[in-house]
Amino acid sequence: MSAFDDLLAANEEFSATFTNAELTGKAARGLAVVTCMDSRIDPLGLFGLKPGDAKILRNAGARVTDDVLRTLVLAVNLLAVERVLVMPHTDCGMTKVTDDEVHAIAARRGVDTRSLDFHTVPDQDAALRHDLTRIRTSPFLPAGMPVGGAVYDVRTGKLMPVDI
Ligand SMILES: [Zn+2]
Repeated sequence: MSAFDDLLAANEEFSATFTNAELTGKAARGLAVVTCMDSRIDPLGLFGLKPGDAKILRNAGARVTDDVLRTLVLAVNLLAVERVLVMPHTDCGMTKVTDDEVHAIAARRGVDTRSLDFHTVPDQDAALRHDLTRIRTSPFLPAGMPVGGAVYDVRTGKLMPVDI
């Protein structure tokens, strides 16, 4: 018995009818999506995409961190990505706390997290525009590459363009 038995069992069924063996690692639709780890977001489903179509980069808050930039540079150079959509969402947990509050919560558990930057989001619109600028002005990514921002509404499933 392990904590993952349910997953192993489900994968037995999944692999029994697996049909994606011919896919390559390249993004067939030339798309990368930066979005949040929120479990309500189905990044392929909400765009009508399927496995193989897009690179999906997820973290807390859909933030464009150094590691997201690193991954985008690789995706553009190696994996056929030609456009990037940054997609935070409504009701995001990262908009409801500050870094200091997370540090305090962890401290109550005896854990010192002060060396971590959580990139919490006090102003979602400002954070999204900042993150779009980070991609657009990166010297490591193609000038003029389409970079868009939109907020996903977890209550309606609709995308609200912010800067596309
Ligand atoms: Zn979120």
